[in-house]
Formats: sequence, structure tokens, C-alpha cells
Amino acid sequence: MGRLRVLVVGAGVGGISVARGLLRDGHDVTVFERRPDASAGGGAVTIWSNGETVLAQLGVDMDGAGQLLSNLQVLTSTGRRIATLDLGAIVGRLGAPVRMVPRRVLLDRLLEHFPADRIRFNSRAVKVLDTEWGVRIEFDDGSSAEGDVLIGADGLHSMVRDVVGAPHAEPTGWCSWQGLVTVPDVGDKHAALMVIGDHGNLGLWPAGGSDVQWWFDLPWSQDFVRPERPIDVIRSNFTGWCDSVDRVLAMLTDDDLADSPYPHFRHPIPGPGQGAMTLLGDAAHTMPPTLAQGTNAALLDTMVLRKALSGFRGATNGSAGELVRALRWYERTRRRSVTAVSRVASLQVSHSEAVLRPAAMVSDRFMTWGLTTFLRSVSHRRMSAEISRDLAVAPTAP
Ligand SMILES: Cc1cc2nc3c(=O)[nH]c(=O)nc-3n(C[C@H](O)[C@H](O)[C@H](O)COP(=O)(O)OP(=O)(O)OC[C@H]3O[C@@H](n4cnc5c(N)ncnc54)[C@H](O)[C@@H]3O)c2cc1C
Repeated sequence: MGRLRVLVVGAGVGGISVARGLLRDGHDVTVFERRPDASAGGGAVTIWSNGETVLAQLGVDMDGAGQLLSNLQVLTSTGRRIATLDLGAIVGRLGAPVRMVPRRVLLDRLLEHFPADRIRFNSRAVKVLDTEWGVRIEFDDGSSAEGDVLIGADGLHSMVRDVVGAPHAEPTGWCSWQGLVTVPDVGDKHAALMVIGDHGNLGLWPAGGSDVQWWFDLPWSQDFVRPERPIDVIRSNFTGWCDSVDRVLAMLTDDDLADSPYPHFRHPIPGPGQGAMTLLGDAAHTMPPTLAQGTNAALLDTMVLRKALSGFRGATNGSAGELVRALRWYERTRRRSVTAVSRVASLQVSHSEAVLRPAAMVSDRFMTWGLTTFLRSVSHRRMSAEISRDLAVAPTAP
């Protein structure tokens, strides 16, 4: 079993990342995606220093992609300054940039040098099975595929998650109206802005060139009815919070809000998977976007799963039992970090000006130190450093 036959369900950032890594490790990988192509919707995602390090380990060229950020300003809706976080200090301590990048750009970069014949589009997985001989996927067109290991990277409403017995995602009671807008005069392109009010919050984060990622978070419930003119609702909630927000609100139309809102969900973090199947990315741990950690967490999953399967590389032989143990090790190793990130991302603090006000008494340096320490603690630093060191000694082909 030196070279694993790996089946990946889902060609999002998580699925393509892990496929790219495992192909580089010499495994036989196929990705199955229900969509007809790799084009990506959505706005921009944040890649923190730890995620950027994983992209470098995957050989992804991120040069010039999106926008590097150097500070994050947090205000209340009445204009009171809460904190200015020095993202440059995070870069200094964690050794890689903090970047905002449109999801489509990130996927394009991940797909550079990725063999096109390793993705099967129009392949919706409808059933996955852990068999005596390995794993099997059945598709909606009646076809099937067999392999040694199956990675469910099929996002929030993952069908693989259902099969491994992990509990469903729960709505958090909030949603984001969000997208990208072109702002001719962005101002300081390295500065991100977050404004927190008592009944909602918003963000304006430069995402490369003149693109700015905007989001407006408001309460949401299962019986939500879409307003006829959503832009009026957004304007009535957020106008007057600050000048740059008013400028963006004046530019947005109902068309810009057509794909929104995106309700926030949180998965209970699953226990051990089943047999030769495991979960990765949002399928394993959808979390609210508050800390902008979703994509990052998928990249860290990729790093740890590659490490778990590294014993099966090249001429090394391993039994099916060892493979299952390696997958359980990956899940256990990620569990603590992901639970911590998901808990912090779900704290009410980011949705309440009143709760956050005392934070203004804390120094910016201390806040920055807190965020950096938190990111470090969930980054698998030692493993990451070892991988980067090994790669520096023996670089892999793209
Ligand atoms: C359309 C879209 C827009 C997004 N926009 C943003 C954004 O603006 N900001 C942000 O921070 N995050 C956004 N995200 C989420 C962000 O991409 C993820 O949190 C993160 O990148 C982890 O991704 P993932 O690969 O685990 O899951 P996803 O990105 O959700 O990818 C899952 C993939 O699996 C495929 N799939 C699902 N079920 C099946 C099946 N049965 N068979 C085959 N394929 C299947 C889906 O089509 C999808 O391509 C978006 C996600 C999507 C899908």
C-alpha cells in the first residue's frame, strides 16, 4: 500500500489543497465535484500567517494575489476606537503574511500546475461506503469509484459527514450580507476595518487592486423572509457608522446583495471518523466567519492530514489497519485546535458593542499579542516548522 488511491469529494479550497498536497507526496488522487467547472463564487477569504505557510508548503505561488494587510482597526458604531491590531507584528512572529484574497483567485492559484485530469466535474456523490477492500463512492449518474481512502471535503452540508455519523451544523442566529465591490480610491490598502454595533456589525477589508470585501452581519432566524429591497434594510441599519461605510453603502445595489444573506452555521466538532473515511475543511468544522478562520482551518487540516499519511509514501508499506489509525491520528490532532478556533469564532463578543466596550481599555499591543498567541497556539507550529525545514532541504517539484 505504498501509493494510496485517494478519493476526494469536493473541489473547494479544502479539496483542491489536500489533493494538491497528496499528489505531491506521490499518491494517486482523484477529486469529484458536483459543479460543472472550477469557477468559484463568493467574496474574499482571509489567509492568516499559518495558512499562508501551508500554501507555501503546497508550492502555491501567492505572489501578488489579493492584498497583504498590516493592520485591523476595530471601532464601535458610534465611532469610538476599540483597538488597532498590528497585523505586521503577527507576520513578524509567525513568519508569513496576512492576506485577503478573492476566493476565485485563491482557487486559480491552487489549480496552477494541478493536473486537470485529476478532477471529475459533474460528479455529485450520493453514497459513500467503507467496504472490506477500501472505500467506494457512488454518483448521481450511476457511476462509481473505488479507492483506499476517502476525504469528505464537501463543505457545510457534507453528505460524507452524514455517513461518518457526525452531527449536523447548527445556525448561530446571525447571517452575513457580503460581497466584493470596486472602490476607485480605497485609501490605505493595507488597513482592514471592523465596526461593531449593538444590533449588527460590519467589515471593509481590501482584497487586491481596487476590490474591497464588504460584509454586514445581522440577526437571522429559520423563518427569515427576504426583504423586497434588501439594500434599504442594510442602509437603514448601517448608514452613519463611518464615512467609508457610507461610501460603500452608496455604491451597493440590490444586485450586489442577490446571493446574500449567508446564514452562519457551526458544526459540533465530530468525534473519530469511520474506517478509511475522514472529513476536511468546512465538512469537518463549519464555523461562523467572525474570526475569518474557515479557509485557514481547511489549510491546516491539509497539512496535518498530509503528515498523517506521510508514512504511506513511496516504498513504505502499510496495512489497512495502519491507514485507519493514521486517519484517526489526524482527526485527534486537529480536534483540539479546531474546537478552540470554532469556540472563539462563536463568541457573542464580536456581535455586541456593549460587551466589547471595556476592550477599549486594553492596549493595542496586548490585543495584538493575544491574537498572535492564539493563532500560534492553534497552528501546529512544531509540525509546520519540521515540514518547512524538510522542504528546504529536499524541495518537491510543483
Ligand atoms: C460558493 C461559496 C462561496 C463562499 N464565499 C465565501 C466568502 O465570501 N468568504 C469566506 O470567508 N468564505 C466563503 N466560502 C467558504 C470558504 O470557501 C470555506 O470556508 C473554506 O474555503 C473551506 O472550504 P471547503 O473546501 O472546506 O468547502 P467549500 O468551499 O464549501 O467547498 C465544498 C465543495 O464541495 C462540493 N460538493 C458539495 N457536495 C458535493 C457532493 N455531494 N458531491 C461532489 N461535490 C460536492 C461543492 O460544490 C464545493 O465545491 C464560500 C464557499 C462557497 C461554496
